[in-house]
Amino acid sequence: MNLHEYQAKDIFRRFGIPVPPGEVASTPEEAEQIARRYGGTVVVKAQVHTGGRGKAGGVKLAKTAAEARDVASRILGMNIKGLVVAKVLVTPAVDIATEAYLGIIIDRESKRAVVMASAAGGIDIEEVAATAPEKIVKLPVDPRYGLLPFESTRLAFALYGDPRQAKAAAAIVRQLYGVFAANGASLVEINPLVVTAGGELAALDGKMVIDDNELDRHPELEALRDKSEEAASEVAAREANLTFIKLDGNVGCVVNGAGLAMATMDLVKYYGGQPANFLDIGGSSSPQKVINALRIIAADPNVRAILFNIFGGITRTDDVANGIVAATSQNPLTVPVVIRLTGTNEEIAVAILKEHGYAAMTDMDEAVKRAVALATGGGSKVA
Ligand code: GDP
Ligand code: MN
Repeated sequence: MNLHEYQAKDIFRRFGIPVPPGEVASTPEEAEQIARRYGGTVVVKAQVHTGGRGKAGGVKLAKTAAEARDVASRILGMNIKGLVVAKVLVTPAVDIATEAYLGIIIDRESKRAVVMASAAGGIDIEEVAATAPEKIVKLPVDPRYGLLPFESTRLAFALYGDPRQAKAAAAIVRQLYGVFAANGASLVEINPLVVTAGGELAALDGKMVIDDNELDRHPELEALRDKSEEAASEVAAREANLTFIKLDGNVGCVVNGAGLAMATMDLVKYYGGQPANFLDIGGSSSPQKVINALRIIAADPNVRAILFNIFGGITRTDDVANGIVAATSQNPLTVPVVIRLTGTNEEIAVAILKEHGYAAMTDMDEAVKRAVALATGGGSKVA
């Protein structure tokens, strides 16, 4: 789950990281009032779940309160990478001397949190990584000890030659690691971490991604969720207790079990197709889950064919068959469906499906090939 910049900054502040003050506005008038209260030049910043807002025109300086109102009226409603701006952060402008990057991610290869720092800040770290990887310093953190003081100090000196600034940066690195560890984050980022004209350090941007599996332990973070920023299908799936991730392909996949779901996606790709989603309807059995799953997948305009791949263990395949029949009699499908099922109550399931005009397959390869062919062939015949 992504947090907004203003939410991340609130958390940063609580951990002692120097963050300039800021307030959120959802109308130009509110932005004007906030700017008037601060006095002087402010920065008006689009609050959307994506980076690169600066380049997209979503971050603007305003010298007066009237200008802040004007700028906010242009940024509010703006579409940045498919996301509509509903809120702006208004924050006193800072005179920037230098911009650095500081972030912590979970690195799958080393299976550790890795602190990354670069004096080349302000721009996307992906860009630095691609063009000048030597400018990024990486520090894997041993989970047994956490981040050790000498490590953060060494990292800080890689960024700043000035001892006073390096000392301040070392404290920020430790505080940021505190933010990361205490909130179940998979990513935290300050970009840019600036030195001001007065020589002070400040976090001018904040990004946090929370590991979804940590949210049960952090209801206070779950409360920060902004559904308007998330794919509608993912919101609906979460509310229906389905594990769903939207992807860019056109083969909708309804599968029971995460492992089988991944194998199914691999096979779809193997046969030249692209999955439209990851979906695990879970182990337990209920026709309602299938109804919910079909509703979500059928709503995706990219989907050209739907593939069921059900291995009946605890999941009863007749429950799935009943779910398919119930869902499609309420809302007939406009794309072909391929149903592969095998296992518990298979004969009953096949009979139910047959009675309602659906053919069932038992071979996974054949089913996937068929679904890919239907999706790429652009056929509209219901199988
Ligand atoms: P992003 O483009 O989505 O990463 O948004 P940022 O918050 O990082 O803002 C983009 C850029 O705007 C920063 O790299 C800064 O150069 C600039 N910026 C942001 N806040 C301020 C500020 O307070 N003062 C000045 N002068 N520039 C700022
Ligand atoms: Mn940034």
